[in-house]
Amino acid sequence: SNIVAIVGRPNVGKSTLFNRMIQRREAIVDATSGVTRDRHYGKSDWNGKEFSLIDTGGYVVGSDDIFEQEIDKQVELAIDEADAILFMVDVEAGVTGMDEDVAKLLRKVNKPVLLVVNKVDNSMREAQAVEFYSLGLGEYYTISGMNGSGTGELLDALIEALPDKPEEEENDLPRFAVVGRPNAGKSSFINALIGEERYIVTDIAGTTRDSIDTKYDRFGFEFNLVDTAGIRRKSKVKEDLEFYSVMRSVRAIEHCDVCLLVFDATRGFDGQVQNIFWLAERNHKGIVILVNKWDLVEKDNRTVKEFEQMIRKEIEPFTDVPIVFISAMTKQRIFKAIETAVEVYKNRSNRISTSKLNDVMLPIIENQPPPAYKGKYVKIKFCTQLPTKYPQFAFFCNLPQYLRDPYKRFLENKLREHFNFNGVPITIYFRKK
Ligand code: GDP
Repeated sequence: SNIVAIVGRPNVGKSTLFNRMIQRREAIVDATSGVTRDRHYGKSDWNGKEFSLIDTGGYVVGSDDIFEQEIDKQVELAIDEADAILFMVDVEAGVTGMDEDVAKLLRKVNKPVLLVVNKVDNSMREAQAVEFYSLGLGEYYTISGMNGSGTGELLDALIEALPDKPEEEENDLPRFAVVGRPNAGKSSFINALIGEERYIVTDIAGTTRDSIDTKYDRFGFEFNLVDTAGIRRKSKVKEDLEFYSVMRSVRAIEHCDVCLLVFDATRGFDGQVQNIFWLAERNHKGIVILVNKWDLVEKDNRTVKEFEQMIRKEIEPFTDVPIVFISAMTKQRIFKAIETAVEVYKNRSNRISTSKLNDVMLPIIENQPPPAYKGKYVKIKFCTQLPTKYPQFAFFCNLPQYLRDPYKRFLENKLREHFNFNGVPITIYFRKK
């Protein structure tokens, strides 16, 4: 789907708008998986059109006294990575010098830019908003992030402005994205696979390379590798903005079928890596975890187990994700990593026939029915896998609203136990029958 970035100087209300736009969905995600949520990235939809939303402000450290330079950088990254940009200004503050700087960058952009004037809570402010014409970005949208007025019109305009993305990519080959934090070894891994120094790999985080996709065939199986390591515009971005790598990851994850999540074994499966993991999960992508730089780890016969346990604890309840221990440097198990991605790709397109599904699941449900909730007993009568690109299941019952998340997780675990969905997120719906 399309990527929309919200830019603007601090305190104009970016995150309020962001939260408003993703609220409904995000609430659902939180309720089902209980994951730490990444508040600066979310999926949103309006009139049935889905898009990803990024609040660039969230990625600036100490955003209260942010430097102008920092904002410019964010805007440039957003321009590079997003399909449309919401540029937010604040009617209370009026046109500021920083707004003018940002507008200057955005006027050159060949993508939809929507100027959003925030804090327009009354008609006087509506009148004040005209001064933003001076930014040279044309029509603007007035909203009140606080009470939500104007957001409907803004969303209508945004959806209208978003480019129509063809569902299919350039070819129908499976797409594997190599994602992870800067310096995890993504470029090295891809180099190792390709077997030639197509990319420059150095000790400096995120060095330059020149293409995104590499068509690859091994094992009689063709696929595309989507690399996030970095078309990094050296002159623009010097340091390691986490924001940058998240942008990159979002882009790559959106465009792939399976994510190879590379992390540096010497640094651990930290919060930032987990964020990328949940990004992939939320986007219903297959996942393989690659523990890289395995050559640097001092090992005994328990080390693998310990690593696995440590990771699986962080990704509950989605714990049947394959973990492969690799070294991009010594090439240890790098083909195993690809083989595993191929398996996950196949698992993702697993289709369970309705009769088989019911044969397995109905006795399980009978044996352990949903517990009473508010005095109501729910009877699940039937289930089916939906005909979608990734696994989604509908369970039909009399009172879907009385089924709780723990029972959903129970069903997910049983599905995982009886069918092979290793590495593949599963979505479960309860529907009224
Ligand atoms: P990227 O930013 O994720 O693309 O990371 P790079 O591929 O640029 O790797 C970052 C640094 O880690 C470089 O200095 C690599 O040589 C080093 N590196 C990558 N993979 C391995 C590995 O498996 N073992 C060791 N020892 N070093 C590695």
